[in-house]
Amino acid sequence: MNRSNKVVTLDSVIAFLKRTHGLYINGGWVDAQSRDTLPIYDPATGLQIASTVDANQQDVERAVLSAHKAFLSGVWSRRLPAERERVLLRYADLLEQHAEELAQLETLEQGKSINIARAFEVGSTLNWMRYTAGLSTKICGRTLDVSIPIPEGARYTAYTRKEPIGVVAGIVPWNFPLMIGMWKVMPALAAGCSIVVKPSELTPLTLMRMAELATEAGVPDGVFNLVTGRGAVCGGTLTTHPLVSKISFTGSTVTGKHIARSAVDRLTRLSLELGGKNPSIVLADADPQQVIEGLMMGSFLNQGQVCAASSRIYIEAPLFDRLAADFELAVKGLSLGPGMDMTAQINPVASRAHQQSVQAYLADAQDKRAEIISGKSVPAGDGYYVSPSLVINPDPGLLLTRNEVFGPVVTLTRVANAQEAIIQANDSDYGLTASLWTTNLKSAMDLVPRIEAGTVWVNSHTLIDANLPFGGFKQSGTGRDFGVDWLDAYTESKSVCIRH
Ligand code: NAD
Repeated sequence: MNRSNKVVTLDSVIAFLKRTHGLYINGGWVDAQSRDTLPIYDPATGLQIASTVDANQQDVERAVLSAHKAFLSGVWSRRLPAERERVLLRYADLLEQHAEELAQLETLEQGKSINIARAFEVGSTLNWMRYTAGLSTKICGRTLDVSIPIPEGARYTAYTRKEPIGVVAGIVPWNFPLMIGMWKVMPALAAGCSIVVKPSELTPLTLMRMAELATEAGVPDGVFNLVTGRGAVCGGTLTTHPLVSKISFTGSTVTGKHIARSAVDRLTRLSLELGGKNPSIVLADADPQQVIEGLMMGSFLNQGQVCAASSRIYIEAPLFDRLAADFELAVKGLSLGPGMDMTAQINPVASRAHQQSVQAYLADAQDKRAEIISGKSVPAGDGYYVSPSLVINPDPGLLLTRNEVFGPVVTLTRVANAQEAIIQANDSDYGLTASLWTTNLKSAMDLVPRIEAGTVWVNSHTLIDANLPFGGFKQSGTGRDFGVDWLDAYTESKSVCIRH
């Protein structure tokens, strides 16, 4: 680090960016058949820093065949659970050894603060990897007493066993590329599946590095494959491939629905972690300082590009003016700068297109004369910055009132009481997360069951854990990630009935 708090880029990162990258198939890099490439930009400068393959149908076909062959061979799927666990723990150790390299790559391709890349993309991912590695040895079915009376006098012993589902297609978004990528790879591998993972075309670099580390850890060739490319061709070919048994998708609700429709044709198993427009309800008895600290982080972490982020804050009338003033002060105090500057609190969003999309929501609100409070002006240059903004008491007609903005834009709404807050909070197609802020235990226990969301925090927001199931109500998705039952989604249950 030099005196300006700018992180010095590691030589290994520079070398990785300069490399010509192919596709990771059957345990190594291979040249793609596609000649098309995709540029990777640094959101802090708008400059190209790397390029990757834009895989075509034949490329994806090759990756799926490699995964399928490895699965059928049993080289991983029939390996002793304890051996899988050991390899996956070694895999986590390798991430730890390369922590700084991966954190820097993530900041450079995604734009997020290096502090967040270190703490979450690497630090939290390590926790998830070790937790999930341990699930390899906890897979179990049940023994069942059955009452089959035929033929007379026959006795049966029945049990269920969990078997790896086969080839998994893992589709990853751009907001937490390494962490969410590992949320696909780890449960698939822990269950004994093979995987073909497709990172977002904007942010493929850290997962590409993780593909190499998987082989170094001892994951057999063909079990972990990675294809890079655009959603429609690369992603579409992967998710509709007949040899794919399960799709694990994280991304927008629009894409999730599209994938779900095509999955129905083959009844391909599907987990969908989709968008959110997450409410926070602040009751009049909440601790104001706790609210400001918790919701500034819960709303603006990673520039609000967090599916679980709080983006609609409903405040009971007696506390509204005080909290609105505190939020304004906090937002205006945030410093803006590149992710590689450790002191910058708001960094660029992930792409030029996304910057324009967030700006369009703000422009619509401005045109409709909404009250908008913005933070410091954005740094000069071509970085994809958006100043953090509060929209006060938004009209229902604003585009940002109901749609997921996925940026540093938060609404503050005055409500008369908890009943009104619940009605407004639940008035959404989404149902991913919510938070409730109160010092009254009875209010919390009364209101938690009435909130339509897959996760409800009380006096905190966006704090996730490997042991806490995560997923959406309504159009925020289907299925749950994490927790002791996570591998259920990566296994089929077989019932066995033995006459004796
Ligand atoms: P996106 O839906 O545009 O893309 C996600 C991935 O799907 C990318 O890899 C993309 O290339 C791929 N894709 C696009 N079209 C496809 C197709 N036809 N077939 C197969 N794959 C296709 O989402 P995004 O913009 O990358 O990510 C932001 C969204 O992700 C937000 O809505 C956010 O809420 C959501 N998200 C949800 C969670 C969660 O856990 N619920 C977590 C993170 C992000």
